[in-house]
Amino acid sequence: MRPIVAHISLPALAHNLAQVRQYAPHAKVISVVKANGYGHGLLNVAQGLTDTDAFAVLSPSEAIALRDAGYQQPVLLLEGVFSAEQLVDVDRYRLDMVVHHAAQITWLQQATLSAPIRVFLKLDSGMHRLGFQPADYQHARTQLASCANVSDIVLMTHFANADVSNGVTQAMQTVAQVMADQPYQRSLANSAAVVQQPHTHADWVRPGIMLYGATPIAEKTAASLGLKPVMTLQSALISVQEIQAGESVGYGSLFIADKPTKVGIVACGYADGYPRHAGTGTPIAVNGKLTRTLGRVSMDMLAVDVTDIAEAQIGSPVELWGALVPVDAVAQAAGTIGYELLCAVASRVPFKVYG
Ligand SMILES: *Cc1c(COP(=O)(O)O)cnc(C)c1O
Repeated sequence: MRPIVAHISLPALAHNLAQVRQYAPHAKVISVVKANGYGHGLLNVAQGLTDTDAFAVLSPSEAIALRDAGYQQPVLLLEGVFSAEQLVDVDRYRLDMVVHHAAQITWLQQATLSAPIRVFLKLDSGMHRLGFQPADYQHARTQLASCANVSDIVLMTHFANADVSNGVTQAMQTVAQVMADQPYQRSLANSAAVVQQPHTHADWVRPGIMLYGATPIAEKTAASLGLKPVMTLQSALISVQEIQAGESVGYGSLFIADKPTKVGIVACGYADGYPRHAGTGTPIAVNGKLTRTLGRVSMDMLAVDVTDIAEAQIGSPVELWGALVPVDAVAQAAGTIGYELLCAVASRVPFKVYG
């Protein structure tokens, strides 16, 4: 077996969930576990989030996996159902669903359910992705309020710019106009809004990325927000090379040594989900010591500078990301965000849950 493994920390998940409650003490928490728990494994992360008030996923199959594993909290389908037929599963597994377009209301009106369900009625507050326009929102709400298959309505929106300090001002004006004086609960905030837009917390917050210990805000590190990384992507050196000034490393010879350099070869490449766009200088740790990658990432391997790590040898442990190397720092070096790297860890990487 190759030495690569993704360790998943249940204590870190519980810590980050508690941190959400510190930021939003009066809100209930819908833990967003879509995309296979942001790449950590849906049922892996659910184990660390047993204290959550609800879960949110995309597809009925993910919701059913949570129910089959015994979770009884509300499970919200973030895009609702994609067809009228899927209401059968919504009914059987007692799921909550987002309603974001008129056909979903029609399907609900025409369905035969064993008991009414709760819906989250989505307002488009400026992102122009999903949701009813402000002018159509009240009509949709009235239809749902008189629909026998609907037990409860939660008013909902999703922000396009909650990571920018005044990025929700306009959206909150729309929310205030459309949702004011309504006898319904509200759900507005993603992670960025949880940490820096307290006036958006309302009744239900919907954190995703912060639960996994990565930052929702480019200018702030996860550690400065009190978050702990849940995933440690770990591997080991499988070769060590000594090269001379003028010699190069890897495809394209992108790194050329300017002095004698000790090069470690790590069993991790882009086929494991490590970003190929992370160039020379991306942070990485060998034997617990921070250093940098060298040259181009290959499919199954990458190179690392161990010139100043005397004890580095075949078998030395390597942290690709985790507590020493924030996933956000690797993402920044690759021109992307932590979300994408976490979601992209390949299925060939074994996961080990601990705690
Ligand atoms: C993914 C998602 C979230 C969570 O977003 P984060 O930035 O990861 O906190 C919240 N609400 C909706 C509707 C989402 O799709």
